[in-house]
Amino acid sequence: MAQQTKYLLDESQMPTHWYNLVPDLPEPPPPPLHPGTGQPVGPDDLAPLFPMGLILQEVSTEQYIEIPEAVREIYALWRPSPLYRARRLEKALDTPAHIYYKYEGVSPAGSHKPNTAVPQAYYNAVEGIRRLTTETGAGQWGTALAFACSLFDMTCEIWQVRASYDQKPYRRSMMEVFGGVVHPSPSELTEAGRKILADDPDSPGSLGIAISEAVEVAASSDDVRYALGSVLNHVLLHQTVIGEEAIRQLEMAGEMPDVVVGCVGGGSNFGGLAFPFIRENLAGNLNCEIRAVEPDACPTLTRGRYTYDFGDTAGMTPLLKMHTLGHDFVPDPIHSGGLRYHGMSPLISHVYELGLMTAEARPQTECFDAGVRFARTEGIVPAPEPTHALASAIAEAERCRETGEEKVILTALCGHGHLDLAAYDKYLAGEVVDFEYPQERIDDALTRLPDPQV
Ligand SMILES: *Cc1c(COP(=O)(O)O)cnc(C)c1O
Repeated sequence: MAQQTKYLLDESQMPTHWYNLVPDLPEPPPPPLHPGTGQPVGPDDLAPLFPMGLILQEVSTEQYIEIPEAVREIYALWRPSPLYRARRLEKALDTPAHIYYKYEGVSPAGSHKPNTAVPQAYYNAVEGIRRLTTETGAGQWGTALAFACSLFDMTCEIWQVRASYDQKPYRRSMMEVFGGVVHPSPSELTEAGRKILADDPDSPGSLGIAISEAVEVAASSDDVRYALGSVLNHVLLHQTVIGEEAIRQLEMAGEMPDVVVGCVGGGSNFGGLAFPFIRENLAGNLNCEIRAVEPDACPTLTRGRYTYDFGDTAGMTPLLKMHTLGHDFVPDPIHSGGLRYHGMSPLISHVYELGLMTAEARPQTECFDAGVRFARTEGIVPAPEPTHALASAIAEAERCRETGEEKVILTALCGHGHLDLAAYDKYLAGEVVDFEYPQERIDDALTRLPDPQV
């Protein structure tokens, strides 16, 4: 065969270290603040929620952190993940551009989430924790953490946003198959949940509310910790195996990207793909555009304010300096459940402010259209979230058709959509509509930001 489409590494070529972007940045990111004192939080403040192994990674300024042997052995169940060149999509678009995608749908949960679920369960297990709480939106994170906990004989308790609990019953089944215990959020089990239900018994929930519930339960017992599937530095750190592998695979193809494009919810699959390429940009080895794509209906980076806000709705987390739509944001019911968070990873927000990346927002109908085109040429039904990056990659390839540029485009296909077929059904029936988020609602939510000086 003359044309190669698949670039595979063998197990011995799996990265041995995660990459930490922080020490390579021209300025360090602003620290999280304690909401009571307005002072930077220290490791001890985080200890009720996270094991020390992860807290040290959260604040680390070391460039490389070794991946424990036990984690690498589990990663080997699905890693290294394949890199493909989308030759049939290129042909259908009649573009001179080269489109590559790094496929994370091969993992046990069908997304990139197990890359961090496994080390998070591991560091809790080595510190003797037997039970983890968490939230989940689309159900991807809950599935990944339930899987990881099952490997370390831990219990996993998951608050799933009510809207997706009702819309995606098979995600709950999958969490339960892995041994997870799932509650719809808001629930009557926590003070945060009861408060929301008292105001609105039909609340569809939000990631911010579900985080409040999971944090409340973890903070009130000594032997329970909390796990977050995105946003925090240690989560993005674990995901850098994606970008590190992609660099090696593109070297096999004899190419380097002009554009690296990913979808952003909290920023973890995007950071995981992009940070090693930002390292190469900063070192002067590459000069590629790093582009984040978010939904029009949840335009955190493109229209949110860069300021200190809570990570959850009830205001129990430290204050994070990030792009935010306000912590009481309740999203419109778009189908990309994983992209409906009110905030953004503080590290990505900082990188964006430094001008090291770009961002754009796209409407969901265009994204579904890209997802269907991709499925019909490449044979993989993408999760609704990465169709945002695909829509952007396709638009770039179409520009190349006009200009004749042979750009190399790399994207993260961070999950498959086998449990999102109800959303595709709606799209094919012409029932998916676009929601542009109204400016008045953003302005209104931003009037309730916390005051970091208090
Ligand atoms: C969770 C999820 C996302 C959004 O989270 P990030 O932290 O921004 O990556 C995107 N795509 C898929 C498939 C997910 O499961």
